[in-house]
Amino acid sequence: MKNARLIIPESLRLEILKAIHEGHLGITKCRARAKESVWWPGLSTQIERIISSCDSCSKHRVYHKEPIIKSEFPECPWQKVGVVLLKKENGMP
Ligand SMILES: [Zn+2]
Repeated sequence: MKNARLIIPESLRLEILKAIHEGHLGITKCRARAKESVWWPGLSTQIERIISSCDSCSKHRVYHKEPIIKSEFPECPWQKVGVVLLKKENGMP
């Protein structure tokens, strides 16, 4: 036992990892779930690995795109002034 967490032998770790990832929760939630009850060296990294290699998760991963916010066309010059800040790389325009 380690701080009331069960130390899982190597042979059972895969089963436990699957159980932790049941419901396909994200890395943070899976880690929190594991932290409550189990431990072994490298647990955190293995949770990360099982999630990133999970087919189901990668299929359903949602990419949040930035929405394009349209603005009204100004009625007269200088009504609106905008600045776009960009970082120039490789010295290319
Ligand atoms: Zn998953």
